[in-house]
Amino acid sequence: MAEVETDDRPHCERCLGHVVPIVHGMPGEELWGAANRGELAIGGCLVYGDGRDPCWACRSCGLEFGTSDQDRTQARSIIQRLIAEAAPDDPEP
Ligand SMILES: [Zn+2]
Repeated sequence: MAEVETDDRPHCERCLGHVVPIVHGMPGEELWGAANRGELAIGGCLVYGDGRDPCWACRSCGLEFGTSDQDRTQARSIIQRLIAEAAPDDPEP
């Protein structure tokens, strides 16, 4: 019910454009849907896994940035929201 549109994500460091969270590793089906709608970026197999991986991708200029814990937390919460929105009403058994 309380659908609050909180835009807590940063803006592009270069062009101040709209950014989307980057999903690292293999995304599930629900994330592919979101990626196709341009709501997130797929990081693919380019994963360092040691904190160097950027969390945000700019939709305008393609810049990838954001490696702080705060960026990571924000990006993850948006990804979780996209997963929740994509989830069917009755989960598979
Ligand atoms: Zn940009």
